[in-house]
Amino acid sequence: MSAPEIEVRTLGNTGLKVSCIGFGASPLGQVFGPVSVDDAISAVRVAFRGGINFFDTSPYYGATLSEKNLGKALKALNVPRNDYIVSTKCGRYKDGFDFSAERVTKSIEESLERLQLDYVDILQCHDIEFGSLDQIVNETIPALKKLKEAGKTRFIGITGLPLEIFTYVLDRVPAGSVDVILSYCHYGLNDSTLEELLPYLKSKGVGVISASPLAMGLLTESGPPEWHPASPELKNACRKVVAYCKEKGKSITKLALQFSLSNPTISTVLVGMNSVKQVEENIDAAAELATFGKDEKTLLEIDYILKPVKNQSWPSGIQQS
Ligand code: NAD
Repeated sequence: MSAPEIEVRTLGNTGLKVSCIGFGASPLGQVFGPVSVDDAISAVRVAFRGGINFFDTSPYYGATLSEKNLGKALKALNVPRNDYIVSTKCGRYKDGFDFSAERVTKSIEESLERLQLDYVDILQCHDIEFGSLDQIVNETIPALKKLKEAGKTRFIGITGLPLEIFTYVLDRVPAGSVDVILSYCHYGLNDSTLEELLPYLKSKGVGVISASPLAMGLLTESGPPEWHPASPELKNACRKVVAYCKEKGKSITKLALQFSLSNPTISTVLVGMNSVKQVEENIDAAAELATFGKDEKTLLEIDYILKPVKNQSWPSGIQQS
């Protein structure tokens, strides 16, 4: 049986051709439970062979474990470096946040060592709502531009939860300084508020990465991890949806992923994966979507259950002055 083809989309003005499903490597840092190095290597291998060419990590995930495991898994692929696209982040660490030029400049060297790479494709300031956005504009982005010039990263990005952080920064940096944004938990079944920002991001020529189509575990049968920040009301509504789908013999993860994948303005959807089984299921979901489209009827039913909590998010970061 030949492998299903995964759609490839262009990421903003970067010219990068990313698979529409990206491999979120935070689970390789064991943030959703234990994962062996062998399982990490197998999951990455099956993903790559199945057409996933984009891998996202951070020094924060599992206190550097995700970067180390991803590095081992990419090396084990034994393919030319430009066959895959890697993004990592800076500014958020196990012991807190530091977006200073000095720290992020040191950080990329540490990340490259753990990833066993000479450069990353994208370096992103991680969860900027926890820092001063003016520092991001005036100090961090200029430092990342120097790292770009030095060949440590090809492109620059910013990530975080509240959508207004993106407009704040993009309205203040020189055009072309920020190549991509990574938004999470804002383009899925329970929250699709990223949609409103897409025309603005397009007008700025900024590539869009949307993460957490399964709402960080809310839309899975095993449920969210202990640390999940959603309100009890939101968790409860998602539990109802999961139970409803199970009863109807439908896969909640498939429906959720297909919903997130179906907007072509979003270049890639990062799903956290920690096993070959999950990788295969998610690749099949993308292939099925391309052939048959979304299951509109079940999506409408889900929408009805989620109505009371639609677009409900949670606080993240420090109040900006
Ligand atoms: P997610 O919504 O992708 O959910 C991940 C969870 O779903 C994990 O427990 C995973 O094991 C499980 N899962 C995946 N496929 C499954 C399947 N087929 N069946 C059952 N369970 C399945 O959430 P996430 O991992 O937090 O987000 C994806 C990635 O996006 C992260 O790994 C990270 O790379 C990135 N991300 C970045 C930020 C940021 O920069 N601030 C925030 C969130 C996520």
